[in-house]
Amino acid sequence: MSGMLSASLLIEVSYYVAAFLFIMGLKKMSSPVTAAGGIKWAGLGMVVATAITFLYPDMHNFVLMTAAIFIGGVLAWWTGKRVAMTDMPQMIALYNGMGGGSAAAISAVELLGGRELGPVVTTLAVLGGLIGSVSFSGSIIAFGKLQGLIRKDFRFRGQNILNLVFLAAATAIGVTMIAAGAGNANGVALMFGLALVLGVTMTLPIGGADMPVVISLYNALTGLAVAFDGFVIDNAAMIIAGTVVGSAGTLLTQLMAKAMNRSLANVLFSGFGDTAGATGEVTGSMKAIEANDAAIMMAFAEKVLIVPGYGMAVAQAQHKIWEFCQLLQDRGVTVKFAIHPVAGRMPGHMNVLLAEAGVPYDIIYDEDEINAEFDTTDVALVIGANDVVNPVARSDPSSPIFGMPILNADKARNCIVVKRGQGAGFSGIENALFFLDNTRMLYGDGQAMASALIQSVKEL
Ligand code: NAP
Repeated sequence: MSGMLSASLLIEVSYYVAAFLFIMGLKKMSSPVTAAGGIKWAGLGMVVATAITFLYPDMHNFVLMTAAIFIGGVLAWWTGKRVAMTDMPQMIALYNGMGGGSAAAISAVELLGGRELGPVVTTLAVLGGLIGSVSFSGSIIAFGKLQGLIRKDFRFRGQNILNLVFLAAATAIGVTMIAAGAGNANGVALMFGLALVLGVTMTLPIGGADMPVVISLYNALTGLAVAFDGFVIDNAAMIIAGTVVGSAGTLLTQLMAKAMNRSLANVLFSGFGDTAGATGEVTGSMKAIEANDAAIMMAFAEKVLIVPGYGMAVAQAQHKIWEFCQLLQDRGVTVKFAIHPVAGRMPGHMNVLLAEAGVPYDIIYDEDEINAEFDTTDVALVIGANDVVNPVARSDPSSPIFGMPILNADKARNCIVVKRGQGAGFSGIENALFFLDNTRMLYGDGQAMASALIQSVKEL
């Protein structure tokens, strides 16, 4: 008796320890200086939460549990080591889908357990199952889109109404189970089936471009489903971690939507640019520059602001760019990095790359901290960024990106843009910055051009 009591006390305490480690980990992840440590704290929390399940008195499937942990652990380790920074959003989508699926599975097991759950627990299990299933199938479709496995957006008239019908039908079945105070096999199969289909039909019409926002939303939903299931099976770690993930995901979704000046409803219910016919027509021509001339321009400047974007990540040019910046600093040039909140494919994308290259945090600035400085900057070096420096966002109300806060690279005395060709950015519209009199295009791969700039400055 006392042995059982101490085991249940140990389980309870361990879950609070795990929850504490998750929260501390998340707190540490808010700064690039402590982020790597934060991952370890949160990982340790997960180890504690997983290990303690072996102590449950009614737990017997140790071989199955160990095999599942081993397979999951090896797969996660292997994929985590191999994944490129540019592929991180789809990896998050996949992991997030797994979380939603696990939450739905817990709900299903509880609803099918054949025991009287009561209205409150049934409600929570139904909610966890519904939300977890939508998040699971939606995240898998998001993964497919980002990975380029699903290339079409599958839009059709009445799709929002169809989604509403699926949602209403799944909810109605859930309500019948709540009224009965217990689940039943047919109800569970139908409700989960409808919710899984809803995740697919909700996500298929959304363009790949909006997928990072959608993933963040599903992340929030997964957190919510996990928290509901935490109440169902009386697991403190799940309640706390689920709530934390739910609120962090919600904040991130809001941040991304705001940085793109779009409402969440616009992302979910209408394709990007659906409301605007403009493709960003601009006049003038793009003027090319050689690496040598660009290097001279920056080597003799007083202040250079670097604006990195998705192309820097594709080219893996961060190390070379930092080497180039150090050469400029040695010559007395003030160098700063200007980071747009949605530069790249997820928030913090650029910060992680620059941290990896060893760029000191005190020369990396957020958009609102640095934007006023472009007026007094000699050269803005835009490397692989496009939409986040497009001035039509300020000037053309018919543009799909009108109102999106941008970095004012066009206000610098000179602007040099490194990109491979004349291709558009993520939004698919023409960039007026490239056609300005004070802009020069340095055509080529980001890393190759950064190497050429280094070589040219060394030869001065
Ligand atoms: P972007 O608009 O996608 O433009 C990237 C540019 O990089 C392209 O113009 C491309 O031109 C160039 N590029 C590609 N590969 C390159 C290489 N190897 N070397 C040099 N240049 C290369 O990128 P962004 O300015 O970073 O803007 C991010 C976009 O993503 C925004 O529209 C934003 O709304 C969207 N988004 C971001 C998030 C987020 O959380 N970060 C979330 C959702 C959506 P070339 O092909 O000519 O080389």
